[in-house]
Order: sequence, then structure tokens, then C-alpha cells
Amino acid sequence: MTTTSTLIDWNDPDDPIKQLIIPRSEELNDWGRLDASNEAAITVAHGVQHKYADTVLLLCNEVCGAYCRYCFRKRLFMDDNGEVTQDVSAGIAYIREHLEVSNVLLTGGDPLIMSTRRLREIFAELREIDHVRIIRIGSKIPAFDPFRILRDDELQSVLRTFSTPDKRIYLMAHFDHPRELTPAARAGIAKFIECGVICVNQCPLIRGVNDNADTLAELWRELSYAGCTPYYVFQGRPTAGNDPYEVPMVRGWEIFRDAVTRESGLAGRVRFAMSHETGKIEVCGVDARHIHMRYHRSKYPQNRGLFFTCQRNDDAYWLDQLVPAEGSAIPYGVPFDCFGGKPSGMDGSNGNGRSAGNSRL
Ligand code: SF4
Repeated sequence: MTTTSTLIDWNDPDDPIKQLIIPRSEELNDWGRLDASNEAAITVAHGVQHKYADTVLLLCNEVCGAYCRYCFRKRLFMDDNGEVTQDVSAGIAYIREHLEVSNVLLTGGDPLIMSTRRLREIFAELREIDHVRIIRIGSKIPAFDPFRILRDDELQSVLRTFSTPDKRIYLMAHFDHPRELTPAARAGIAKFIECGVICVNQCPLIRGVNDNADTLAELWRELSYAGCTPYYVFQGRPTAGNDPYEVPMVRGWEIFRDAVTRESGLAGRVRFAMSHETGKIEVCGVDARHIHMRYHRSKYPQNRGLFFTCQRNDDAYWLDQLVPAEGSAIPYGVPFDCFGGKPSGMDGSNGNGRSAGNSRL
């Protein structure tokens, strides 16, 4: 059976699949925060996040098929973190009361680690709420263990039952590298589709894994062939422990541009975005002096659809480190680094009250 560990070329010290899951000592570098997008601020009940009016996240599992070294939610896996709950009753009650919520994302951790019985119960509860039209499953199991779907007839039946023509289940798959698209993984995607699930892919840009145009272009092309359309590639969040996996924003945009311009329309639908505390910000372009950005999703109404420009900074990893360009609109709620020092708002603390250090970010 092919597993992630068998995909690793152990003779290659720089093997990209190895970088995904094998710890590195540089993770101990003093860099970033544990809760880099301040998810604590949008947590409305135990295990429930609500940032954009139409979408609620249920953090319903804190176990994964393997632990990705670059994970932006690695704080969830720490012993004293209690943000996740398998008891979704508070979340269901919250969603029922909020008629504007049409999308619910099951996340964590990886929801497809949960038992099929538990998934059936959660789907059934959500389907009793008329205004919930889309259930999303954020999962890397299709890469780590495609046999989760291929060998579970009951899971297939559950997906067929709850993904209907007017109320779909979406799989937000997480493939980072084309080598993960094994024959079994492609068969797994085909099975999701056969069960009525719409498949898309989102992944971060990860140094040493997919930070070159050839790899990204191949990943998106192969995903589009498999029926799992590329949706987002994310600028890595400045999360504590992630120093060895991060790519500066401008370099990230250059890699994205070089990859996306090779693609067909479907493989090229992917957006390069930053999941910032204030919203999903698409990096639209970089020129000799400026970085141009647009809010694709916004936490604050003031920023909805806002197009704005910052001075180019090839060393910056995150919006907060930039300086707005003269004459540009200024997004609401962004602690720009206008003084060249430590980005304001990044005070070394995090949602768990633990210092993560900030010497570089
Ligand atoms: S599967 Fe997702 S939640 Fe789990 S460690 Fe990887 S990125 Fe994080």
C-alpha cells in the first residue's frame, strides 16, 4: 500500500514529501505567533469560528493522518489547548440561530479521521437547518490515506445521502505536491465525485516542498485532470515553528505568476491569497515599486472588495510588515509596520497566552 512515508525518497536529504511531515530543528527558531491570524478573536463558542457572515467553522477534531510541519493550527495539537470539541451542539445551536450562515466548514484537525458514524450524525444535524446549503470538509486524508474513502462503503453512502443537487458537500482537499497524487489518491477523488461531492484543492506555498513554478504548475494541472480544481494557494501564515517553511510574499507571487500563466483556464482558476486576520487578501500583482492587493473576503464591511497598494518589500512575509503606498486606500484594522520595527499587534503573545517570540516577525 502506498502511504505518505513510502512516497519519500530517503536518500534525498531535500525530498519534498519528507519536508511535509518530518520535524526539523529550525522549527525551534524564534519566529511568528501560535495564532497568527488571531482566530481567538472570531471564536464565538467552543470549537466555533465565525469570520465571514455566510460561513461558520466547526473545529470538530484535533487529530490528523499525519502532522504537517507547516500547519498554521499546530497550537491545537498542544496538550493544554482546548479549542477543539467533538461535541458540536454549541455550534449547531449557533448556526441554527444565524440565518445568514449558508456554508459550514468541518475542520480541525482533520474531520475525515472521525468515525463515519460521527460524520453521519453531524451531517444529519446540519441538514436539518434549512439555511445551511453547503457543508465543506477540510481534509488532507485524500492525500494521506485515500483508502479512507475507497474502503468505506458506509462513508460513500453517507456522502451520497447528504450531498444533494441543491445542498452539496464540498471536499476542500489539501494536496501540496504532485507526487501525492498517486493512483490511489486519484481513485479516491474519483470516488468522492461519484458520491456527489464537489472537490477543490487548497494548500500553502511551502519552502522546500512546492516553492517553484514547475512543481505548482504540475500540481494544479494534475489536480484539474483528476477533477479537483485548484482553489487557493496561500501565503504561509507567520506561525510559530514555521520559519523553515516560509516564502517571502514577493517571491511567492513570482512563483505563483510563473506557474499560473502556464495553465489552462481550469487549472489557472487558483488564487494566491493571504488568510489575514482582517480577511482573505488576494495578491493581484507586484511591480518594481508596489504590491497590489484586493480583499477577496473581508471580516469588516469597510474592506469589502477593497483594492489597495503597498510599497514593495522583498523581505516581508505578511501584510503587517508592509507600508501602504502613497495615495492608496488603507484597509481598516490592519496594524501596518509603518515604523520599520516590530509589527504592531504582534506582541509575542497568542491565543494560548504563550510567548512565541518575534525576533524576525
Ligand atoms: S492535516 Fe491540516 S490540520 Fe492536520 S496538521 Fe496537516 S495542515 Fe494541520
